[in-house]
Amino acid sequence: MNPPLVDIGLNLAHDSFDHDREAVVAEALAAGVHHMVITGSTLESTRAAIALARGAPGRYRATAGIHPHHAREFHDADLSLLRELLAAPEVGAAGECGLDWYRNFSPHADQERVFRQQLELAIEAGKPVFLHQRDAHDAFMAIVREYRARLAGGVAHCFTGDERELRDCLDLGLSIGITGWICDERRGQHLRELVRLIPADRLMIETDAPYLLPRDLQPKPRGRRNEPKYLPHVLAAVAGCRGESPQAVAEATACNALSFFGFEIPIANH
Ligand SMILES: [Zn+2]
Repeated sequence: MNPPLVDIGLNLAHDSFDHDREAVVAEALAAGVHHMVITGSTLESTRAAIALARGAPGRYRATAGIHPHHAREFHDADLSLLRELLAAPEVGAAGECGLDWYRNFSPHADQERVFRQQLELAIEAGKPVFLHQRDAHDAFMAIVREYRARLAGGVAHCFTGDERELRDCLDLGLSIGITGWICDERRGQHLRELVRLIPADRLMIETDAPYLLPRDLQPKPRGRRNEPKYLPHVLAAVAGCRGESPQAVAEATACNALSFFGFEIPIANH
């Protein structure tokens, strides 16, 4: 029997799942994805993530945070609300939070302000952080370094960087989340080598669904929506690149994720 998998990045509150969310989850469970971390990226999606997690606490954890894309809409008056959401027992990490200078949907100053505020809240709550970074590595590292000693932990979700960036993250004791980006023969080739450098106790896997449908998935699903049921595909790619069995990678990544996000499941039973 295959060991159960944990998808640490699933935007299950996304409206593309509104019409068939239950079926999406049922198919994920059937594919062995027994645990999922539902990403909060705005106040609204965080509320929705917590509500979903509340319905099946053994299966789900939520994150509570403001994605850097939405930093401009986040005001200091919203801080107490985010603090409350982060304190919910269903919430396993603060985030997603970080810097995204690729799309630049929010000005850098807003992104840095809201990132710092969330690191402070994470420290206050004693919860780890779910980190997003794109094209902003040096600024991002400078900020994480300031807070790292006080943080309960952190995962660089959807890591897509180069070897220097990976080593910086590992040096700071961060865990690394790998998505189907590694299946992309154009953009993800470098990750196939880098994924071998990640210690087994720091590795986690994720779909980032509905985004980032693995490019080499056959047959291509209609609508090109990514789903948590494709996590075994990411697992197979990661295991293949590391020269390890999918079982071994499944066990290690699940064990890491269950403890990082505080799933209330005795790991020995899995
Ligand atoms: Zn992200």
